[in-house]
Amino acid sequence: MKKNYRTLAYIGLGSNLQDPSTQIAIALRELALLPKSDLQQHSGLYLSRPMGPPDQPVYVNAVASIKTHLEAEELLNHLQSIENKHGRERLGEHWGPRTLDLDILSYGNKKINSPRLNIPHPGVRLREFVLYPLQEIDKNLIIAGVGRVDRLSQKCYANGLALLEE
Ligand code: ATP
Ligand code: CA
Ligand code: CA
Ligand code: CA
Repeated sequence: MKKNYRTLAYIGLGSNLQDPSTQIAIALRELALLPKSDLQQHSGLYLSRPMGPPDQPVYVNAVASIKTHLEAEELLNHLQSIENKHGRERLGEHWGPRTLDLDILSYGNKKINSPRLNIPHPGVRLREFVLYPLQEIDKNLIIAGVGRVDRLSQKCYANGLALLEE
């Protein structure tokens, strides 16, 4: 059955290879071109310290919100094809360096736990490079099953996170 309502979804963007700021800027334009979707808002670009292997470049992160008729799995397909266009290589190293990472942080109030998708994204509550940009675009945001973004970011160590100047 065709879905005739739109879902508000939040997407996390990250890059630490091949001019990360440009990767993120291009990816934001690509999100604006997603089918059956409209880009609502996006945060500024933030510099963050890498998770996982410490011997990798710093990251640039941002978040965006879209309103979409795409199902969550379809949205993931589109996001993965955007990652692939950016030359994303999967080298087997968990949290290793990447040209572009696009995570679905939340999809309406839905909870999904399938082999391909965990929604809300389990990293949201702990990651400064997600919580602070989310708070920037919506200070009243509540993620169902996770909590109030303002409270969570208050409790989350900023770990050197820095908003990049335009
Ligand atoms: P993390 O998910 O902890 O941020 P990562 O982004 O480095 O780690 P990837 O290698 O990009 O992980 O993705 C591995 C798999 O995670 C994807 O192939 C996808 O099927 C799955 N996945 C599960 N939940 C999500 C989600 N909410 N958004 C994007 N991918 C997800
Ligand atoms: Ca559009
Ligand atoms: Ca990720
Ligand atoms: Ca990912």
